[in-house]
Amino acid sequence: SMTLGVMGGGQLGRMFVQAAQAMGYVTVVLDADPASPAGLIAHHHIRTGYEDPQGLAELAQRCDAITTEFENVPAAALRTLAAQRPVAPSADCVAVAQDRIAEKAHFSQCAAISGVHPAPNATIETAGQLAAVADNLLPGILKTARLGYDGKGQIRVKTRAELAAAWEQLGRVACVLEKMLPLQSECSVLVARGADGQVAVFPVQNNTHHDGILAITEVHEGAVPVDLAARAQASTVAIANHLGYVGVLCVEYFVVDNGRGGSDLVVNEMAPRPHNSGHYTQNACDVSQFEAQVRALAGLPLPTPRAHSPALMVNLLGDLWFQPNGVRAEASEQPVSPPWAQVLALPGTNLHLYGKLSARPGRKMGHLNITGATLAKVRGTAAQVLTLLGLPALD
Ligand code: ATP
Ligand code: MG
Ligand code: MG
Repeated sequence: SMTLGVMGGGQLGRMFVQAAQAMGYVTVVLDADPASPAGLIAHHHIRTGYEDPQGLAELAQRCDAITTEFENVPAAALRTLAAQRPVAPSADCVAVAQDRIAEKAHFSQCAAISGVHPAPNATIETAGQLAAVADNLLPGILKTARLGYDGKGQIRVKTRAELAAAWEQLGRVACVLEKMLPLQSECSVLVARGADGQVAVFPVQNNTHHDGILAITEVHEGAVPVDLAARAQASTVAIANHLGYVGVLCVEYFVVDNGRGGSDLVVNEMAPRPHNSGHYTQNACDVSQFEAQVRALAGLPLPTPRAHSPALMVNLLGDLWFQPNGVRAEASEQPVSPPWAQVLALPGTNLHLYGKLSARPGRKMGHLNITGATLAKVRGTAAQVLTLLGLPALD
C-alpha cells in the first residue's frame, strides 16, 4: 500500500495520521520531539529536525507522497523533498502563507476575482515605511510578517508614537500594520484541492476567540449570514485556484460593520493545512478535513463534503487541567483531568485528546465536538458542557 509522510508531529499531524491509517495507508512522521502526538502513533517516526538532510532523505525514501502539518516548516525543506516525491502543498504555496506581506499581496490579487479584500494595511520593513504610514491605518494592529500565531507577535497601537514603540518592541523585523476593523464576527473556510484542480469547499465556520486563541467553532445553516458565507466560499476557492494549491487550505475572514447598517467580508489570513476551526468535520461531515488532506495527497476524488449535522466545537486548552470545573484546584500545581465522564454522558459529544504528556496553560490539549438533530439540541448540550467545564457561556 501507499506510504504517506507528514512534516511535523503535532495534533494536526496526529489527526492526519489517524485519517490515513483508517484508509489503510502506512504513515511516517518527521519531528524532533520523541513524544510528539503524531510520532507516537505513526507507523514510523523519524526523530529529527526539519532541516536535517539525512532525515529528509529518509522521509523521501520511505514515502510515496508527503504533506506538512506545521505552517512554519522551512520552505527549503519542502523543495528538497519535492525534488524526489510529490509534496502537497508545494513549497511556494507554503511560503506565501508563511509571510503576511506575500499573503496580503496574493489576497489583493484574488480580490479582483472575488471582491473580498484584506484589511487596509501597510508593509513596514524600514524606518522610512514606518514614517510614511497613512493616518487612516490608526488605530491599528502591528503584526510580524512571519511566525506569529494565537495573537502572538502582534501589538495594538493607537498613535504614531505607539506604532514606533511597538515596532521597536517587535525587534524592527518585517511587519504589517493593519487598520483596526469593527468586527461583528469571525469565520473561516476550508477548501481541499487536488492536483487535477478538483476543488471541494466545506461549510463556513463561525469562530469565537478568547484571548487571541480559538475557543468555539459553530457550523450550521445561518451560523454566518448566507450571502457572506457564499462570498467567503467563492473567495477561498479563488485563493486556492490562483495559487495552484494542492491539499487542504483554510482561509480566515472577518465580518465587519460596513458603516451603512450592514456587514462586509474581509479576508484575514490563511493556513496551508487543516485548521483548528475545521475539527468539527471529524464528527459532522461525511469527509473530515483530515480525510480530505489524505485524498488530496493520494490523488483520490474530492466530492463536495456534506455536513450531516449542525455542529459546535469546544477547544480544550491546558488551563482546564488546572481548573477543571472553572475553580482553581487547591493544589493547583498538579494538573487534574476534567470531568470527561459527565461530559460524555451527554448525547452527541465526542472527545478528541491529542495524547500530549503534560498540560500547560494555553496549550491545545484536545477538542470536543458536539452534534445533534437540531441546532437547539447542539447549543443546549454545549451550554451544559461549558457549565461542567467552567468555561464562558455561549453568546
Ligand atoms: P492564528 O492563531 O489564527 O494564526 P494570528 O496570531 O496569526 O492567529 P490573526 O488571525 O491575524 O493572528 O489575528 C488574531 C485575532 O486578532 C483575530 O482573530 C481577530 O480577532 C483580531 N484581529 C486581527 N486583525 C484584526 C483587525 N485588522 N481588526 C480587528 N481585529 C483584528
Ligand atoms: Mg495566523
Ligand atoms: Mg488567525
